[in-house]
Amino acid sequence: MSKGWYPVIDFDKCVGCMACNDMCRHGVYKPDPEMGKPKVVYGNGCVNGCHGCERECPVGAIHYLGDDGTLDIDYDYESYRPEILCEGKPKVAFICVHNSCRSQIAEALGKKMASDVFESFSAGTELKDHINPDAVRLVKEVYGIDMEKEQCNKLISDIPQPDVVVFMGCNVSCPNIPSQYTENWGLDDPSGKGDEDFLVTIHLIEENILKLRQKLIR
Ligand code: SF4
Ligand code: SF4
Repeated sequence: MSKGWYPVIDFDKCVGCMACNDMCRHGVYKPDPEMGKPKVVYGNGCVNGCHGCERECPVGAIHYLGDDGTLDIDYDYESYRPEILCEGKPKVAFICVHNSCRSQIAEALGKKMASDVFESFSAGTELKDHINPDAVRLVKEVYGIDMEKEQCNKLISDIPQPDVVVFMGCNVSCPNIPSQYTENWGLDDPSGKGDEDFLVTIHLIEENILKLRQKLIR
């Protein structure tokens, strides 16, 4: 099954404001000068679960192939299994801005819970000089993993070319990293919050890692 989640424009509603084209960082849209409206030209670049352009559209002209069943396609987000072509295990990159908290937790849990299915890496678009100490403490307490020993802060250029990219919760500012499949987990950054908020995020990451593992089993 090829990728089946990307935006579809209802041109009867579309007013040609180009807000969707302007906000998407993944090359999904291209303006069509003749129509005066954008076209979807690169569905594969769309980040599953992002919904960014739908939020921007002032007239509700965007929906996603696969979301509502009206297009009669065989796609369901939960059970969707992307085809990844690669030698060995797919490389998964977990991305957030500073590679200090959510993406580091995902790398740690990916290595612990899914290393039989995929390789885990994490990186950020800007560099911090340390991993969030609350994340380090709680991941050590709950899973016995010492992230300070096993991991370090990295930029996207420091990790191998990924087959799968998972954005932790960015929207318009998430970078375009070429890959065969992308997801956006939409997680709030718990940095600076209490342990309860951290644990909610950590458990959501664990759940998502296990779902991703299922999706990538070959
Ligand atoms: S990546 Fe986000 S903004 Fe771009 S087309 Fe997909 S849903 Fe829209
Ligand atoms: S944001 Fe909506 S109205 Fe504006 S160009 Fe895109 S689809 Fe059309």
